[in-house]
Amino acid sequence: MWLSNPHTQKVLTSLSESGHQALFVGGCVRNALLGVEVNDIDIATNALPQDVIEITTNAGLHAIPTGIDHGTVTVIANGIPHEITTFRKDILTDGRHAKVIFSNDIHDDARRRDFTMNALYAMPDGTVVDPLNGIQDLRDHRVRFIEDASQRIQEDYLRILRFFRFHAWYGDETAGIDPEALHAISSNLAGIETLSKERIGAEMLKLLAATNPAPALASMRLSGALGCVLVGADDRALAPMVHLEDETDAGADSIRRLACLGGQGVSKALRLSKKQAKSLDLLRDQIGGLTPPDEAGYRFGFETGLSIFLLRAALLETPLPMDLELSLRRGANAQFPVKPADLMPDVQGVELGQTLRKLEAKWVKSGFKLDRNDLLA
Ligand code: ATP
Ligand code: MG
Repeated sequence: MWLSNPHTQKVLTSLSESGHQALFVGGCVRNALLGVEVNDIDIATNALPQDVIEITTNAGLHAIPTGIDHGTVTVIANGIPHEITTFRKDILTDGRHAKVIFSNDIHDDARRRDFTMNALYAMPDGTVVDPLNGIQDLRDHRVRFIEDASQRIQEDYLRILRFFRFHAWYGDETAGIDPEALHAISSNLAGIETLSKERIGAEMLKLLAATNPAPALASMRLSGALGCVLVGADDRALAPMVHLEDETDAGADSIRRLACLGGQGVSKALRLSKKQAKSLDLLRDQIGGLTPPDEAGYRFGFETGLSIFLLRAALLETPLPMDLELSLRRGANAQFPVKPADLMPDVQGVELGQTLRKLEAKWVKSGFKLDRNDLLA
């Protein structure tokens, strides 16, 4: 397990042996308790950032001051990054980023976090430290703001999105969402506008990557938050799509799910990468298209082809085509048998490209059955 990894242990013991407190914190502890994969290792300590750099460097580790202003030093041990952040305490805020000062007290550090399930700590030997009763909430699948929900949100409006993200991943689908939290969210929606599009985009993509994000998205719409983030988005085809994804083992793909939500100017609103925006545009373009499965497989590959048909089925409320996966696979594996050299020198220049495209269209239409000789004849 990651916790007992000797390199990770060395990071912690270097700090504790020099007389400081050092504990795992946040997602890595939460996920370890749930028995699910850990994404990144965060460590909280009462050592000041300069001391963290000095101590870990002396221990032969590679320390990088990645966020020294808010107290974070990244220590690389055997290629694994460990984010070490000095205990902090919130003092004031502009609603975009909470302003913090360093603290010597783990309780201060716990209380400036977002949800009780994210304020869990573990000692180097795995003993859990739970200052805010996060374990009980985790067991009950309850995403609970630490202390006053409205105040927590006003310190950092991204917490609205994080609330739905953690609900999608670790919440209880059937028990519904804490009405007090929803009320606090609905009363503070205007703050979403002040957030950077990158931060919103990163949270939304993580939310949409949950096994089943549909219930969280539905609550997000009812609270009004979905409309603030994505104007014109509609989540109602998402539940049927997740069902179809299950049937076809398509996996959780954030961009496909985003295409399912629709909305205006999505790529800009979430500051998607060029590649993500391109995939999203292609999927949106193909929803109303008539490209049959084998051709979709040939033109876009198996994965994208499958996404197109899942989207069409979910949004247009139609069944998936018969033998969909077989046809997609056949298209994806098909190799156009004619090469430019087969046509030259009789055909050249612009005409060459046109002829090749015509032959390819004919070949696709034949269900990839025409061979090279048929086509050249
Ligand atoms: P993941 O498994 O996705 O990495 P995580 O809980 O580790 O989930 P991160 O975004 O990596 O989430 O943040 C690490 C920890 O830092 C959180 O568990 C939480 O305690 C704290 N944190 C992060 N962002 C915020 C925020 N906006 N407000 C308050 N606390 C936060
Ligand atoms: Mg994390």
